Amino acid sequence: MENPRITRIEAGRLEGKRPRNAGSNARLGEHGIAVRPRIVRLTLEDGTTGFGACGASRMQAEPLLGKPIHDLFSPQAGVSEPALPFDYPLWDLAGKLYGQPVYELAARVNGRTVEKPYRAPCYDTSLYFDDLHLGTEAEAARLLAQEAREGYERGHRAFKIKVGRGARHLPLEEGTRRDIAIVRAVREAVGPDAPILLDANNGYNLNLTKRVLDETAECGIFWMEEAFHEDPVLYRDLKEWISSRGLSVLIADGEGQASPTLVDWARDGLVDVIQYDIFGHGFTRWLRTGRQLDEWVIRSAPHHYGGHIGNYAACHLAGAIERFTYVEWDEAETPGIDASGYSIDEGWVCVPDAPGFGLELEEEAFQRAVAENGFTLA
Ligand SMILES: [Mg+2]
Repeated sequence: MENPRITRIEAGRLEGKRPRNAGSNARLGEHGIAVRPRIVRLTLEDGTTGFGACGASRMQAEPLLGKPIHDLFSPQAGVSEPALPFDYPLWDLAGKLYGQPVYELAARVNGRTVEKPYRAPCYDTSLYFDDLHLGTEAEAARLLAQEAREGYERGHRAFKIKVGRGARHLPLEEGTRRDIAIVRAVREAVGPDAPILLDANNGYNLNLTKRVLDETAECGIFWMEEAFHEDPVLYRDLKEWISSRGLSVLIADGEGQASPTLVDWARDGLVDVIQYDIFGHGFTRWLRTGRQLDEWVIRSAPHHYGGHIGNYAACHLAGAIERFTYVEWDEAETPGIDASGYSIDEGWVCVPDAPGFGLELEEEAFQRAVAENGFTLA
């Protein structure tokens, strides 16, 4: 069949778990243990199915029914603009239709080829403020160091630590000192070679950022993420300070409601790593953005948290974007999603050489979710 039509659309929200509870960050409270990926599955008249993360409503889905796949997806450009709410299910569906992994299709869109076995670099993003109940800096540092070791045992070799404890949850001085003690303890725990990334969720200001980077200079911080709300004047100052201190810390930003001029500032050399959300920005847009950032010699590292299957989806951009730096890995398991083709080894995600995103839906769990909280169109 040349151009099969979509004959069935099913949606349902699954629920999975992280291996441990995730605490607060600089601005929010407990993130908890649950992850709740909303899944949409598309079925073509020839029986091919594809699924992916998708928040679309029944009303948004209705016009898709009966549409031929090539009205929605092209191998040259990916998902068409009007179909972008179904970005991930359509990439998976196209991969299954062509019998190719999404990473191969994606690389081709950007004029690149991939090496096999295909893998993507990742970092452990699980080091939250899990220590707020502890009375001392030393106990807090010990706990976070132990959590980093857990990640190391799972195969991680790069670690992001949430900082900014003094922004809201602890008194300023106590929180800042605790951040510093934790960074040093994690460095000790993961050895000298593992990149360490800091994320303040905009909970620092310029002077606090300099102080923390100064006092952790011997830890070799790889990037400083969302130090404060992005501002070209303050970022220029920070950049100049970093180079005057002989540090090599990169500036990373872009998740959430990023400034629309962020990439212009990146182009001006003020931001080194762009982090638009893997779902909010989407896969097709990320391909285009990444290609543009490559031209400007800026790194790409999509934000991902709480959606579980973004862990896997983000890997498929790595071959298409030359300066793709990291997948943000939020470890979880979700009944209903079989991700057994993926594994983490020495800081790399090993991605299965299977059609689409290389994931399987477990029918019983998915049907339960569809019946309980979703919909079917056919
Ligand atoms: Mg962040």
